[in-house]
Amino acid sequence: MNSFSRAEVGAAPAPYDPAFDPLVSRSPGHNMQYAPTYWVASAGEPPMDDGPIRGDVDADVVIIGSGFTGLATALFLAREHGIRATVLEANQVAWGCTSRNGGQGQNASGRLYRSQWITRWGLPTALRLDEEIRAGFDTFVQLTQEIDCEPQPGGHLYIAHRPKKLAFLRHEAEVMRKHFGYDTRILTGEEVRRHWCGDQEAAGAMHEPEGICVHPLKLAFGYMKMARALGARVHPASPVTGWESRNGVHYLRTPGGIVRARAVAVATGAYGLPGLSPWLKNRVFPVLSNSIVTRPLTDEELQATNFLTHQAITDTRTLRFYYRLLPDRRVQIGSRSAISGANAHRESHYRLLVNGLARKFPALKGIDIDHSWWGWVDVSHDMMPRVVQPDPMQSVYYALGYGGNGVSFSAHAGRRMAERVAGLRGPEIDLPIYDSALPFPRQGEWAAPWRRLGQSMLYRWYWLRDEIL
Ligand SMILES: Cc1cc2nc3c(=O)[nH]c(=O)nc-3n(C[C@H](O)[C@H](O)[C@H](O)COP(=O)(O)OP(=O)(O)OC[C@H]3O[C@@H](n4cnc5c(N)ncnc54)[C@H](O)[C@@H]3O)c2cc1C
Repeated sequence: MNSFSRAEVGAAPAPYDPAFDPLVSRSPGHNMQYAPTYWVASAGEPPMDDGPIRGDVDADVVIIGSGFTGLATALFLAREHGIRATVLEANQVAWGCTSRNGGQGQNASGRLYRSQWITRWGLPTALRLDEEIRAGFDTFVQLTQEIDCEPQPGGHLYIAHRPKKLAFLRHEAEVMRKHFGYDTRILTGEEVRRHWCGDQEAAGAMHEPEGICVHPLKLAFGYMKMARALGARVHPASPVTGWESRNGVHYLRTPGGIVRARAVAVATGAYGLPGLSPWLKNRVFPVLSNSIVTRPLTDEELQATNFLTHQAITDTRTLRFYYRLLPDRRVQIGSRSAISGANAHRESHYRLLVNGLARKFPALKGIDIDHSWWGWVDVSHDMMPRVVQPDPMQSVYYALGYGGNGVSFSAHAGRRMAERVAGLRGPEIDLPIYDSALPFPRQGEWAAPWRRLGQSMLYRWYWLRDEIL
């Protein structure tokens, strides 16, 4: 596949840096090749783009980052507000998480369960938040119907990887049914293995009918095509390396020239370096997740694994496995990975996935793995995303902090960010994901440099709790 912008034909992309680490790297990259993902290998030729920025340019609205969030913002700005945005991407289109995820679109965002929403904000707010997240899921569903992105609808199977996790699932299913009106149900381990998939660890499961898996890069390319058809401009190989604001005008420095903008929407996920904008410094915690894809399963392997569903599957480990059968009979499985980019290549992280797959599906022990990659997830310090204008005096907006749950909600976050840029404030504005900036670590900003130390200790504790205790 041609991995550089067609408008940039002739300029070879820079090699992919597997050790890229947003907390350590000095640059967001410049025209770097894609990570070696299954999605990149199977998405086909990237659509036309507008090439890198060449010379100084004036733009009404600039969006930094061309993942789901940035492209959806551009799409909704054009479609619903008639604003033609300029998207600046450091590397290739959708180079970050958007070309690396598991493609599981769920009726969720952030890392908190609905029962935790009630505990944190009370039932009335939790109900309104649910309405908003559900509207977000509808936005996503609508887009998956407009774009050829290999949708796999049907829902999400949340598997108890040990019997002791069943009580938690029963409680969550009850909350979903009783308070929020979802048709969530509990399955026994036997039912899971007989009617869904032969996961040998499954002690039972919760099934929610909302959930669609997609080919994420095809979806992103679809967002981009629709946005450009409406007048948006998308410039890959155009990293923003400096940002000054004077008299209401933003001056964004890129290697090809300065882009002057009236408003800036930041959609850099976990890939924005801390120095890019003062509004985001120490407010996003980048966490690695890795993923593998097997070769297509044979008839015998399909029978032995009893994979009868293409729906999204996750399990109850704190650092959960997420997996599914892809349309071409391959299995994708992912989980959390290394603490730092420098260690991401280590065999132990790859082994975690290969061994996890074999434990769940013994017939797949030793199966060829065709694709292996990793990427940085944008985790917020209170586990919920934000779509905000952090300073009412500045025409700057951001949408991020999905915590590994951004495939679906990023579409709606882009829609809401487009509304804010267009000056609209709906009745949802006082919800916790819209009414405040991303918080610093709970202990205070001073704790930011120590987060990885804490993360490393937490990972050990999670492993102990999930596998032994
Ligand atoms: C391995 C993995 C598996 C995942 N699985 C799932 C899943 O199954 N379901 C789910 O819901 N979520 C999943 N996620 C999370 C999901 O992929 C993200 O929430 C979503 O893609 C975020 O999109 P985004 O547009 O906000 O950010 P990104 O897609 O990360 O895009 C940010 C972009 O900003 C660019 N950028 C950064 N700095 C600059 C700069 N200075 N100038 C210009 N451009 C810049 C980057 O190059 C990047 O392309 C997963 C993530 C990973 C890594």
